[in-house]
Amino acid sequence: MKTIDIDQAIVLLREKVKDFQVPIVDLVQAQTKEPWKVLVATILSARTNDLTTAAAVKKLFKRVTDVRQLADLSLVQLEKLIFPVGFYRNKAKFLKQLPGVLSDKFKGTIPDDIDSLVQLPGVGRKTANLVVAVAFGKPAICVDTHVHRIMNIWNYINTETPLETEMALRKKLPERHWTTINSILVAYGQSVCRPISPHCDHCIIQSLCPQRGVTPRKTKTRRKGSLHLMTWNVNGIRAVAKKGFVETLQELAPDIIGVQETKAQPDQLDDDLKNIPGYQSYWFSAERKGYAGVAVYSKLAPIAVTNGLGVEAFDVEGRTLTLEFETFYFVNCYYPNAQHELKRIKYKITFNDAIRRYCNRLKKIKTVVLCGDYNVAHKAIDLERPKANENNPGYSQPERDAMDTFIAAGYLDTFRLFNQDPGHYTWWSYRSQAREKDIGWRIDYFCVDKKSEARVLDAGICKEVMGSDHCPATMVLSNATVKA
Ligand code: SF4
Repeated sequence: MKTIDIDQAIVLLREKVKDFQVPIVDLVQAQTKEPWKVLVATILSARTNDLTTAAAVKKLFKRVTDVRQLADLSLVQLEKLIFPVGFYRNKAKFLKQLPGVLSDKFKGTIPDDIDSLVQLPGVGRKTANLVVAVAFGKPAICVDTHVHRIMNIWNYINTETPLETEMALRKKLPERHWTTINSILVAYGQSVCRPISPHCDHCIIQSLCPQRGVTPRKTKTRRKGSLHLMTWNVNGIRAVAKKGFVETLQELAPDIIGVQETKAQPDQLDDDLKNIPGYQSYWFSAERKGYAGVAVYSKLAPIAVTNGLGVEAFDVEGRTLTLEFETFYFVNCYYPNAQHELKRIKYKITFNDAIRRYCNRLKKIKTVVLCGDYNVAHKAIDLERPKANENNPGYSQPERDAMDTFIAAGYLDTFRLFNQDPGHYTWWSYRSQAREKDIGWRIDYFCVDKKSEARVLDAGICKEVMGSDHCPATMVLSNATVKA
């Protein structure tokens, strides 16, 4: 089996990932140039996504301006400041102990070598390597799971564990690549060379890669005369853009996609995001900046576009956008969240009534496709832990009843036409590694009016698509009209 041309691969990938999100630890270094902050950010980032780490780091560094101050805070204060990073209780303990160990062993300064760093609480080899490379710019190889995996796929090394990988790379990888290899392969491993079904068909180094042990993603052939529809709560269009939204859209290539929670006004967006080749985009944003909002990207030109429901209380929050096509309405909707202690339940139920009445009017004319984040798991089968979530927002009785009322009014949850099994989710909390453990909820739907059932050719969930706390849901619609 061939092995990869490492220099060529790294040059190509460095260029490819340069617009992807900067890992939080690199960001802290770029912004502060303070090794103790890089160390703390690295400890917090273990088993936690970058967005959560960034929020915790911001709160913590606002309160603590010198590493010694960590010892002055109580454990409860530290836990509150860093919550909800993964293992926040343990990490709070490590942070509290840190100033003492630094003072006892290293005269209060952050050491710049791996053997010393691993003596600090909460610091393993991966963290130590990252701190040496990022904070001190010294040669070190941080081996994230993506580095371990991809280096073996490339047949550049043949190892069983990340530690073996680190040792093998220290012997083989030219030193000029040591400090950057981690961030390049993490970015590429999260977006293209994914652990499950890597997107080899879109990979810029496919001709170089030996693909050892890889089962590339299968691309489905599409039925003629069908439309591939998609819905995705992106949890911030600007955030997901940094994680490869444009590339993901081009790979998945739906004919129409409704996105929710755009959290942006169109004038805040780069042209690249508004004008994706092959698509026209339509935006309906909340008046409040950085909040809610919906958009649709479509390959087909609509006959008409309608912003909102004509109800001011909902339209100021940018919750509904309708594209009318010749044979159907595509209604993209972001239902309100009932919120903690169901504080917004009244607003949400009123919204449910309004959108149902709106769809009822439209379905008298032609097929209605209502997609989006409904913010409710309809039945016990639609979430991993129904008992524990009784009466929590998203699974409270009034919200489930409202979904019952919608279905009873003559709509179909299309996913359930094709799949009756539990364990299919579209949203996972950022806390407690919920996505890794698949402790999720199915709250994103494609519904159609019952009369149009025969037009629904397929429905599914793209669990492997990353970039948001939701994944996309899909539906294939026959373009043939339904006989009245
Ligand atoms: S995506 Fe496929 S071709 Fe590209 S590096 Fe990964 S395994 Fe190799």
